Amino acid sequence: MKNKIFLSIIIISAFSSVSSMIITVIFKGETENLISIFLGLIFIVAVVSAILSERIVKPVRNIDLDHPKSKKNYEELSPVLERLKLQNGRVNRQMNELISSRKQFSIITESMKEGIVIADKKTTVLASNSGAYRLLGIEPLKKGQSIYALSQAEPFRRCIQDAMGGRSAECILKTDLGERKIIASPANVSATINGIVVFIMDVTEQQKLETMRREFTSNVSHELKTPLTTIYGIADMLANGIVKQEDVSSFGQDIRNEAERLITLINDIVSLSKLDENLLPKQDESIDLYNLSEEIITRLKQNISEKNITVSIIGEHILIMGNRTIIDEVIYNLCDNAIKYNNDGGRIEIKISHIPTKVIITVSDTGIGISDEHKDRIFERFYRADKSRSQKIKGTGLGLSIVKHGVNYHGGTVRVSSSEEGTSFIVELPVDKK
Ligand code: ADP
Repeated sequence: MKNKIFLSIIIISAFSSVSSMIITVIFKGETENLISIFLGLIFIVAVVSAILSERIVKPVRNIDLDHPKSKKNYEELSPVLERLKLQNGRVNRQMNELISSRKQFSIITESMKEGIVIADKKTTVLASNSGAYRLLGIEPLKKGQSIYALSQAEPFRRCIQDAMGGRSAECILKTDLGERKIIASPANVSATINGIVVFIMDVTEQQKLETMRREFTSNVSHELKTPLTTIYGIADMLANGIVKQEDVSSFGQDIRNEAERLITLINDIVSLSKLDENLLPKQDESIDLYNLSEEIITRLKQNISEKNITVSIIGEHILIMGNRTIIDEVIYNLCDNAIKYNNDGGRIEIKISHIPTKVIITVSDTGIGISDEHKDRIFERFYRADKSRSQKIKGTGLGLSIVKHGVNYHGGTVRVSSSEEGTSFIVELPVDKK
């Protein structure tokens, strides 16, 4: 306001002095004042044009760019402001769509159990979900950090480098939490790499199964090869006539033993793979566990008498509904072990009992026992507790594996308790299978 008054005073005083000069020139003929008049006029014109241009520009400057049509303005600007309003609307709509698709992306990726990380071509992380950090067991990256900060492991770096170079890559990362599969793919737009997308998956279980499968295959090959090599060797000697007549029968016995070992092994593998593949028909029938135990002991009577073992079956005639072949194999394997790993003149007790929710089969022996270090592993395939001692005792290392799978098939559990006095295997089957 002060400035305006000051400016008006200057203009008025400039105007009045120019006027007086003009009067002097016209009436008194003092032409030397002409230059001063000219300068005064220029000054007045400059000030007036500054004021006018400010007046003209002010409404344009005051246009609210977010709401261009909200205030009254020059009619001439109407088409431009209308256009601006339309464009604002379009930008707002696109912005809302972008926000909602970002929200959707985040909802979807957050509900994934896999990790996902998106990085630009400079490796800066643009987006990621919490799954990625959970699986890698690290704190979320800060804004602007590189994807390489996710892991220092060499396979991970190589994977990212490959993807940055335009090739999809995969690797397995071993973390404290388990094994993770990393899949990195380049994000190309018309042959230009704009960044990469990385998936992180938990493959701990798969890797464990894969290791088990590899070990199983190599164990089976080894176990099949050993008796076959012996049989081949003896057959070769017999064919070449280098076996003395009196040794023929003993070599014949060796061949029979090895062939028996092969048959047992193959039968065990077949049983296990049937249980594994769930190939057994669901033919549940009523089984009297007491009677079945008696049958099994009758089948094993030769082995029992060879070691002078006393067997007692106690308990009740409990009926369960289940697969007879599998339950037979479970009890048979436990009894067979109770004989094999028993001492001469030892005892075996088979007890059939029940509580309201479970049927319990306990097979106890007075044998060599199982030390604590082996207890957790004896149910693994091909695991034999005391290699040197068990080598003298025939076995495949598959019996307890079959027991465990057979019991699981019926929804039950099996556990072992052992001391220097002997071993007990306790099988519990749920009562609703009755
Ligand atoms: P195997 O064919 O060797 O008997 P199993 O799977 O049946 O295979 O048993 C695995 C290992 O557990 C055996 O090699 C043996 O060392 C141990 N074991 C099983 N049952 C008994 C038992 N009743 N007493 C002592 N050790 C046992």
